[in-house]
Amino acid sequence: MGTANKEEKVCPKCGTDEKQRKYGLNGSGNQRYKCGVCKREYTLKPMQRGYDTQTKEQALKLLTQGMTGRGVGKALGMSKANAYRWAREASKKGR
Ligand SMILES: [Zn+2]
Repeated sequence: MGTANKEEKVCPKCGTDEKQRKYGLNGSGNQRYKCGVCKREYTLKPMQRGYDTQTKEQALKLLTQGMTGRGVGKALGMSKANAYRWAREASKKGR
């Protein structure tokens, strides 16, 4: 249908969408890009919508207090899958 699968890649530093090229993968297997204008290397964030750092911090606090991922999801009104993921991350980091 003529429309190439064009992703919107915008440099987080200079904000241009030109000359953004693939630049290997990072440690977690996410595609990295390099800006041809300012030479900044960056990773596109994988589908992280809706939750700000404040919510995440609060979730992590509840998790460290022993709340389950499901409980946190309920308490903060977010998807429990998300809470579970954070719970996993937190348990990997802590201890
Ligand atoms: Zn740039």
